[in-house]
Amino acid sequence: MTEHIKTICAHAGATPDPSTGAVTSPLYFSSTFHYPPTGEYPLGHIYSRESNPTRASLETVLAQLEQGEDAAAFSSGSAAASAVFLSLRPSDHIIINFDAYAGIRAMLKDVFMPWGLDVTFTDLSDVSNLSKSIQPNTKLVWTESPTNPQLRIVDLASVIGICKQKRIKVAVDNTFATPALQNPLALGADIVMHSTTKYLGGHSDLTGGALITAKKDEQWERIRHIQHIQGAIPAPFDCWLLLRGIRSFVPRMMQHISNAKAVAEFLSQHPKVERVLYPGLITHPGHAIAKHQMSDFGAMVSFLVRGTKEDAIKIAQRVKVFTNATSLGGTESLLEHRKSVEGPDSPTPENLLRLSVGIEDVNSLIEDLKQALS
Ligand code: PLP
Repeated sequence: MTEHIKTICAHAGATPDPSTGAVTSPLYFSSTFHYPPTGEYPLGHIYSRESNPTRASLETVLAQLEQGEDAAAFSSGSAAASAVFLSLRPSDHIIINFDAYAGIRAMLKDVFMPWGLDVTFTDLSDVSNLSKSIQPNTKLVWTESPTNPQLRIVDLASVIGICKQKRIKVAVDNTFATPALQNPLALGADIVMHSTTKYLGGHSDLTGGALITAKKDEQWERIRHIQHIQGAIPAPFDCWLLLRGIRSFVPRMMQHISNAKAVAEFLSQHPKVERVLYPGLITHPGHAIAKHQMSDFGAMVSFLVRGTKEDAIKIAQRVKVFTNATSLGGTESLLEHRKSVEGPDSPTPENLLRLSVGIEDVNSLIEDLKQALS
């Protein structure tokens, strides 16, 4: 984690407002803005679907966090991903992890494959699968590392190296890793995506998404155009909440990670646990790559219960400090039986429980898991 990111977050896009001296970003609810009838917008805004000052402050800080040239904020992570897929053409081919976030896989299967996108789902944690999947019409590799919820690690530098030679764009869903721990644009990726609903928001009280681009190229212009004309934009209040969440993002993240490490260690010693999927454990198959490409290992921990789906669900029913709920990245710890929400065609093992480790007292989390597993 760079010192730089701490300062970016603590200030979160705000310089004192020149008209009032306000130190934090003002919240502009206005949907429309005065402009002269000549068709120019000297103050930068005309209509909030196109741009809004609060959203502009948010986009500035998002671009800084991922070291990109520009950022676009969306109403959800899924809306952000959808804008990338819409910027392609029917009959283009994309490659994606077979175990990427279930909602994005469903979006591709239910919306974009019928629309004409050609999609290969493969295990990108084995880079040899990438070369085997590339076709003459491959335009994009969409990848996630660590993956949700199996925590597989993809060697981003290798994926990007192969794609650069073939002029294939790489987009990385950096939601699990966060910009504090992994910077795909610095490794040569073209686009980074976040569900800002998660760690960047950090309080489970908003839904948002973001795309950050390395370069303002032709594809980025299309994505910006899609953002403006499709209008899957966040409301000013959500942008403001997100700016506020980002201010405390780094210290929250440090506490999340420290708790997650202790929880993963505890689970890895427990006789009722078959395997812990956490890249910070030396036994994790992606540990060496994660150590190299991330500055720390994150706070998402999955584990395989020794037993059946029913055994896993019983454990989920017994937790008291963890809340049985979906999503991740809030201050409170959450636990979820992912196979039940992902559906029958999900590659997630039936005995897997996923934890979003929060920032509570770590002993209360370990005690809770101890009683739930007993
Ligand atoms: N990417 C990952 C890794 C996710 O976990 C999620 C949501 O859980 C998304 C994308 C989609 O984000 P949103 O729910 O904000 O649409």
